[in-house]
Amino acid sequence: MTPLIDLDPRVDGLVVSPTLAARVRANELAQAGRRVYRFGLGQSPFPVPAPVVAALRAAAGEKDYLPPGGLPALQAAVVDYHRRRHGLTFAADDVVIGPGSKELLFLLQLAFAGDVMVPTPSWVSYVPQARLAGRVVVRVPGGGRHGLMVDPDELDRLCRTGPGRPRLLVINSPSNPTGLAYTGDELERLAAVCRAHAVVVVSDEIYGELTVVGEHRSLARAYPEGTIVASGLSKWCGAGGWRLGTMAFPPTLIALRRAMIAIASETYSSTSAPIQHAAVVAFRPNGEVEAYLAEVRRLLAALLLWSGTELMGAGLDVPEAAGGFYLFPSFAELRPQLARLGIHDDVALVDRLLTRTGVMALPGSAFGMAPGDLRLRLALVDFDGARALTAAAREVIGRGFLERYLTPTWEAVTAIVAWCQEVRAEASP
Ligand code: PLP
Repeated sequence: MTPLIDLDPRVDGLVVSPTLAARVRANELAQAGRRVYRFGLGQSPFPVPAPVVAALRAAAGEKDYLPPGGLPALQAAVVDYHRRRHGLTFAADDVVIGPGSKELLFLLQLAFAGDVMVPTPSWVSYVPQARLAGRVVVRVPGGGRHGLMVDPDELDRLCRTGPGRPRLLVINSPSNPTGLAYTGDELERLAAVCRAHAVVVVSDEIYGELTVVGEHRSLARAYPEGTIVASGLSKWCGAGGWRLGTMAFPPTLIALRRAMIAIASETYSSTSAPIQHAAVVAFRPNGEVEAYLAEVRRLLAALLLWSGTELMGAGLDVPEAAGGFYLFPSFAELRPQLARLGIHDDVALVDRLLTRTGVMALPGSAFGMAPGDLRLRLALVDFDGARALTAAAREVIGRGFLERYLTPTWEAVTAIVAWCQEVRAEASP
């Protein structure tokens, strides 16, 4: 049949984001009666902290449109938050509030005239967004630790081709998918290259509050004049569905902020008013929110450490996660055995893992890896975060705790380990 319409070339071939598609597939299998472990979508398992929920209730009557750049009290709270937590200086006028940092990242790419440099590997949405915005995408090959970071020398080499071209580099630390975070030295070296080539950086710090050590380093400390800092409530406040993101701009890049606000005013108008009022409480100093975050970090640190150690014990190469919910193991060590089972790429690996263990993972290729690298992204979020937090207040968080209170995630990791052993045994000649 002849199609009645043609799609714009920028959306032709665009499909639902792999993380959301994974959730659909997991739901289908669960409905068919299978036990499925949801390690696909990176959704926080923890509840929104009580004072923030109370603030949302109290703000239910806020019904008017707000300014497209955001509620002034929230902009001020975000400025204070970045000063307190990251030692960064912004003015209230430097901040934009949007319906999720994802939307703000897109508006930024729409407003910025130049190439978008995307590291390999990196979060699934950067490249589709750049394409939608009509930008040329320059992939930065993986380098540095585990071959999964941006190597400053490689960045320098790329920038030397076509000197003077305007470029926007996306950096994400701690990273989805790798869990790795840049050290102070690594950030200084990256900053020096970006400064030398006048590269604008958007530093996606959405996992900044979820570091294992409780401290987060922003690239904006080393490169304040060229770094835009993106954050939001989705991960550390457990409020992905609330849709609230923030971006803070240095004065040198204020034209970008103005353009984004103009686009916002012509598209979604403004971010939900009750959510913005509640977010003020999340960003202001609050003892209860800080205690909640300390517990969340303790739980995630124990979970990442135990899971990483188990998977390494099964022969996988697992970068030691510095924060977030993710592990990014490589199954390359099992390559000969997997090949004998007909598994040659990460998509086949995801499929076999799902059918044999019920664990729904994402292929590394969704994040820009070569399919033959055999890396999978595991989002360790399949557990009842509210129950785990209540128990953590009265019990020591050890291996037994993880088994008792983070049971589905514990079972899933244990099942992956058992499957790796089976693969070795089954495929040995
Ligand atoms: N950046 C990264 C690296 C993410 O993993 C996500 C969500 O998964 C986002 C941005 C989007 O967050 P938001 O909910 O603020 O749009």
